[in-house]
Amino acid sequence: MLELAELLAHGRAVVLTGAGCSTESGIPDYRGPLSRARPRNPVQIQEFVRSPDARRRFWARSTVGWARFRDAQPNGGHRALAALEAAGFVRSVITQNVDRLHARAGSGAVIELHGALHRTRCLGCGDRASRDDLQARILASNRGFAAHGARLAPDGDVDLPDEVVARFEVPACAACGGVLRPDVVMFGEAVPRDRVERAFAEVDAAGALLVVGSSLAVFSGYRFVLRAHERGLPIAIVNLGETRADGLATLRVEGRAGEVLTSVARALGAGGIAAE
Ligand code: NAD
Repeated sequence: MLELAELLAHGRAVVLTGAGCSTESGIPDYRGPLSRARPRNPVQIQEFVRSPDARRRFWARSTVGWARFRDAQPNGGHRALAALEAAGFVRSVITQNVDRLHARAGSGAVIELHGALHRTRCLGCGDRASRDDLQARILASNRGFAAHGARLAPDGDVDLPDEVVARFEVPACAACGGVLRPDVVMFGEAVPRDRVERAFAEVDAAGALLVVGSSLAVFSGYRFVLRAHERGLPIAIVNLGETRADGLATLRVEGRAGEVLTSVARALGAGGIAAE
């Protein structure tokens, strides 16, 4: 832990977070020790655009999962990163998560690489709207639907039987009646170029890279580790289990993000955390 604190003390770090940063808030990851065994088949963007059935399945499952996803609270790891930023040890957070928990914990400089599930976008007119407003409209035409109980899966998703999905009435864009999508980067599509460039610029300006709770199996996040390596930055990884970049790491801490980051913030006297 002390080594990690020392590494952060020597240069303002950019932090790359993944699903493992939010498991302690009750949002499952994809590739953790428990989740890896669970079958998962998230919808690809091409299928979502082409198939009304795929969209029905997506929105039906999202309707049941939304309240629990939205109500998840930041954990100690999110709070510690916000405190480390306020104290000058962290310059920014690049997150692969779509749960908004870094911003809610008080992190100011956050790049949400994959967007956030809190907004929808119309494939027709491009209108962006609130997911909460959509939920109210959905429930008005699908009474009692959110009560279908099921275990929360990553990305605010839940498993639902086909006969329940078949009864779901799919919402349309309130502005133009067009097809709605979540305002996130879905599987099979690329992160917008300007967002990637902003994230690269953060890595280039940082004194170190800290990876928290990501297997780095997805290239979307892994490329920033490669960039940091090319630039000769120290790379620290806090994760439960292996990651794709373990061979590039200067320092690896095996542990829960909430506990490790809280200790590091305390060791550095980062405000809020140290005072608790
Ligand atoms: P991942 O599931 O591939 O890897 C998560 C890693 O975190 C695993 O190695 C796991 O063992 C580790 N982990 C789990 N709990 C931890 C903890 N408490 N402390 C430290 N490590 C912990 O996730 P990824 O690399 O982020 O890639 C998955 C993709 O899915 C991302 O692109 C992301 O957009 C999306 N996703 C987002 C959320 C979210 O918004 N919270 C949740 C699931 C998936």
